Amino acid sequence: MSPTKEYERTRTEVLIETFIRKQLRLKAHTVTKVEETDECMLVSIDRLGKRLLRCGVCRQRCLEVHDIRREREWRDLSMRKLPLKLLYRPRRVECPRCGVRVEDFPWAEPWARVTTALSTAVAVLARELSWQGTAREYGLNWKSVATIVKRAVQYGLKHRARPPVHVIGMDEVSRRKGQVYLTVVYDLERRVLLWVGDDRTEEAVRPFFTKEMGKRR
Ligand SMILES: [Zn+2]
Repeated sequence: MSPTKEYERTRTEVLIETFIRKQLRLKAHTVTKVEETDECMLVSIDRLGKRLLRCGVCRQRCLEVHDIRREREWRDLSMRKLPLKLLYRPRRVECPRCGVRVEDFPWAEPWARVTTALSTAVAVLARELSWQGTAREYGLNWKSVATIVKRAVQYGLKHRARPPVHVIGMDEVSRRKGQVYLTVVYDLERRVLLWVGDDRTEEAVRPFFTKEMGKRR
């Protein structure tokens, strides 16, 4: 490889790294490497110098890092056809309020295995397509889509004031015959998904009635 070509290659890589860092809005983290494989782009992330990390529970900046966990992987939106995978070794911080906790990730919720950007895109598409169709579109499995939609609905209920519900509809989603996997509750008037519950229907529906309908047991 000629020196010029090598220079250009390095320059392009730096541009991609900068682009991803900006897209993910990293401040205390940085992109150290971007590798392309046949199936995906692997984006390696590391802490940026001694920048302070935030507690994953209360989001307060913490002075001390307790330890470094083993590498985790997050699925992100695709770049053209190639899905992005983020790789990072999470730190556990010593939070003055919460004790030793896993740090806050600017790109994902603490529990999530996909980035916030991908889960938002999935939740939006799942309103238009079937969950199977959405899963296919994003190269995820059905269960990941179900988890994302469930979290999105929970988030929506917590953060948005809803008008009173007059007509509800309930449905059960099963993967195999006789095996109920999720219970979903709709506002039939406005045609929005209100609530997604686990396979234990009775337990799942109870909080919905007490919270949403104002009926107390
Ligand atoms: Zn904390």
